[in-house]
Amino acid sequence: MKKTKKKSRHVLRTLCILLLAICLLAGVGVGIYFQKGDWLFSVEQSFVRYETPDLTPLFRFEGETRPLSEWLADERVTTSYLLMLVNASHPLPEGYEAELTEYNGARMHPLMVENYVALRDAVQAKTGVRIYVSSDFRTSEEQEQIIAESEVGIAAPVGCSEHEAGFALDVYAPYFAGMEFLRSPAGREVNRVCSKYGFVIRYQKDKTDITGISWEPWHLRYVGAPHAEIMAKSGLSYEEYVDYLTPEVWFLHGDYLILRTAAEALTLPNEWQSCHISPDNTGYYIVTLKIR
Ligand SMILES: [Zn+2]
Repeated sequence: MKKTKKKSRHVLRTLCILLLAICLLAGVGVGIYFQKGDWLFSVEQSFVRYETPDLTPLFRFEGETRPLSEWLADERVTTSYLLMLVNASHPLPEGYEAELTEYNGARMHPLMVENYVALRDAVQAKTGVRIYVSSDFRTSEEQEQIIAESEVGIAAPVGCSEHEAGFALDVYAPYFAGMEFLRSPAGREVNRVCSKYGFVIRYQKDKTDITGISWEPWHLRYVGAPHAEIMAKSGLSYEEYVDYLTPEVWFLHGDYLILRTAAEALTLPNEWQSCHISPDNTGYYIVTLKIR
């Protein structure tokens, strides 16, 4: 009888200790989640396995060849500077003038607006928090001002900023700006899903030696579909992505064909829906053809 009592007391004590340990662990977990979301996000990201870019080279297809100037007259063809590589060694072209529109006081390229709104609304629907733009288009004078106010290596030189190109937005969640952005669920969600809306986190954590800019989880660069998703899934920086597109080779990705070329004549397949042409600022232009 005495032995059974002792045994049950022992079991009870073990259970209490176990319960206490679970409570402690859960408490620490919850604490980390709310206070150090950025740390948890980094852990989550370290489990992401990047894939080889989903781009299948197409060496031959039936099509029609026309000079580029003739294709440009086709109403299905649109042009912009969307896919321009902009960095310290690739400044904006001489005389470049950003095409801009204003949305809620933020100046950005007209191609981005709809997708920015969709991203903002999706993040709000998921997290209950609305994100805002803290930095939009910048004139060269505004970029100069930013450089003067920043630490070395934070801001791109004048003429080399994607903000001056009109294709970048810096975003924040209330009380969570800059590196703090990842401590908010909205910031982490932006980083997780922005590629679905044509945006990439342009200055990645592990690519600072290539981009020349420190990690900026708040800086969104618009490159559109399907480029943003290919980059996000493969983990490539924009420098690497442009380099990956071997010149004069068509690549198939889902409903898209992509070509980086310097040719003056272009062969397009017989059937296609829309075509976007943008210089890449490295001496080539990139053709993004929607075939279905
Ligand atoms: Zn920025």
